[in-house]
Amino acid sequence: MLYLDNAATTKPDLDAVNRAFCFLNSDYYNPSALYHGGINVLKEIKIAKEFILSSLHSTCHEVIFTSCGTEADNLAIFGSVIRGTFVTDEGEHSAVYNAFKELQNRGNTVYFVPLNTDGSVNTEKLLDYVKNNNVDFVSIMHVNNETGAINDINRIAKELKKMNPKIIFMSDGVQSYGKLDYAISSDIDFYSISAHKIGGLKGTGALIRKKGTKLSPIIYGGGQESGLRNGTENVFGIKVFEYSARKRFEKITENYDKISRLNQLMRNNLSDDFVIISNKDASPYILSVAFTIVRGEVIMNNLDDKGIIVGNGSACSSKKPFSRVIEACCIDKKYLNGVIRISFGIGNTEQEILSACKTLNEEVAKGKQIFG
Ligand code: PLP
Repeated sequence: MLYLDNAATTKPDLDAVNRAFCFLNSDYYNPSALYHGGINVLKEIKIAKEFILSSLHSTCHEVIFTSCGTEADNLAIFGSVIRGTFVTDEGEHSAVYNAFKELQNRGNTVYFVPLNTDGSVNTEKLLDYVKNNNVDFVSIMHVNNETGAINDINRIAKELKKMNPKIIFMSDGVQSYGKLDYAISSDIDFYSISAHKIGGLKGTGALIRKKGTKLSPIIYGGGQESGLRNGTENVFGIKVFEYSARKRFEKITENYDKISRLNQLMRNNLSDDFVIISNKDASPYILSVAFTIVRGEVIMNNLDDKGIIVGNGSACSSKKPFSRVIEACCIDKKYLNGVIRISFGIGNTEQEILSACKTLNEEVAKGKQIFG
């Protein structure tokens, strides 16, 4: 099987799983328990937090573990500003986008900033809106999960805070954490991350919060995570997250360079039937490509039958069977139905990329012959 859907999820890092196995087998205590076992497990959670903060080069943030990236996004969005004017962009993952739709249903003012053609946020329009409106909360994703476009969130946050220091700024960092070497600035109030995109397990995420930024829980209970995310901590998941992240960060530049080479190889070897949506300066981990006449889903299914797994831009409804994010990039409409997302993993090889290109070229050419 040739797996090229690593932005959806990655293979769990079995070394990390084995290393954390003791938290299932012997050290399975409740971290809230006051005997030695419980206290030691709580210390292990603290070690995981310290590592995550050091990996983001942070000196002024803290970590709140959650059940996933989606929950981390929701915690920041619903736990911070109760009522007001909220701004995000058209390219957000549904974890943020649909939370903003809900804010709108609840009577808040919500503005979705348009995108540039590569899927990055139109910063000029964002700043313009903030200049002319009394904005309370802004959420701009770090790396777009469909095109890989990178938003310069440190710069954006700085500019926003210059205009209005009271703005709360959050960023969804799920597709950047462990892939881009990034130093989180003190202008970022919230940053969400997820374990399963970098070799950790599904069901583990975290919200990074700037110390002192107002936050109320959205789940009430026994006071875990300083009362901000109640519920007994998933110690095993947290330790697998830490161990897999440690491995990713040890080789973050080496991995980035390798993935960049694979990305370039793919770009070089796709036929003229493809247009490349992802910009050259996007995260190399994600490459979105489009073609006419054949539907992305058809190509995805045909590849699946041949043992090659790729993603397609997530469709928003049966009425609009294409991705709202790709649509927001304003690419020529004739390409909208024919989009696939190739997302690379650190285990992929050049041979695999060449083989995937060959099959992709053949399938799209065949489809065009049949439907064209
Ligand atoms: N945000 C982005 C940008 C994502 O790509 C994803 C997952 O694909 C999420 C949030 C949701 O993360 P999780 O699957 O941990 O809920």
